[in-house]
Amino acid sequence: MECEICGSEGADYIIAVEGAKLFVCAECSGSGKIVKGPAPKREESPPARHKAELEVADGFGQLIAGARKRMGLPLEVLAERINEKHSFLERVEHEKTLPDEKLARKLEKELGIKLLQEVSSGAAVNAKDGQGKGMTLGDILEIQKRKKRE
Ligand SMILES: [Zn+2]
Repeated sequence: MECEICGSEGADYIIAVEGAKLFVCAECSGSGKIVKGPAPKREESPPARHKAELEVADGFGQLIAGARKRMGLPLEVLAERINEKHSFLERVEHEKTLPDEKLARKLEKELGIKLLQEVSSGAAVNAKDGQGKGMTLGDILEIQKRKKRE
């Protein structure tokens, strides 16, 4: 829902201006009498999908090799501990292979390092999901009626 005054996304307010009801954003909600504020989160609605993607940190090879050496762990021993092939782990340390999430998590746990980082695109996706549910004025009146009855 777009703000009917400034056109920005996320018109969570309904205000009354000279008898007309407008869907507006928080910033424009001061332009009239607020009829309804942001809709409360309904419990039955499914939780926002967490779409944040995980990415292996830059320089992961150095991170792994550095932590491993600090711990005095030979590559073979580390490989054995996390149940991976030593040659594979060597490729990862040389950044010839990107560890998948599962392997990265095992390495994080074993070495006490942070390899995975969230790519922040998730927040934007969630914000978009929350919009455009398009409650009509009729819906809102219906909800208000229901509230009164309760
Ligand atoms: Zn606005």
